[in-house]
Amino acid sequence: MTKLQPNAKEGRASMSYEDKTLACVECGTSFTFSASEQEFFAAKGLTNEPKRCPDCRQARKQQRRESYDDGNSYGYRQQRQMYSAICASCGKETQIPFEPREGRPVYCSECYAKVRR
Ligand SMILES: [Zn+2]
Ligand SMILES: [Zn+2]
Repeated sequence: MTKLQPNAKEGRASMSYEDKTLACVECGTSFTFSASEQEFFAAKGLTNEPKRCPDCRQARKQQRRESYDDGNSYGYRQQRQMYSAICASCGKETQIPFEPREGRPVYCSECYAKVRR
């Protein structure tokens, strides 16, 4: 009997991975960190095991994307160019996120709320 068996499963003899069960730090659910994922992680040079279950990872990704869109959140929102304008209704100076155009009345947020009705 020969022991020279090719590692048919992975096609590689380097290292064998086994499915691992990890607990999600977010929701506590246990999830499988599969052998192929481990290999994928290793191939990317990642040594940390995933901390979250696939669901939470997905949710986080989505959240991140949303908060990114959403005004590129805080930091950016404050850097976003604001224009000063005089409210056409009450005469107060107000900041608006768009360039005031001539002939188009600009309202402060209070008046804008009233005008919109
Ligand atoms: Zn989770
Ligand atoms: Zn006003």
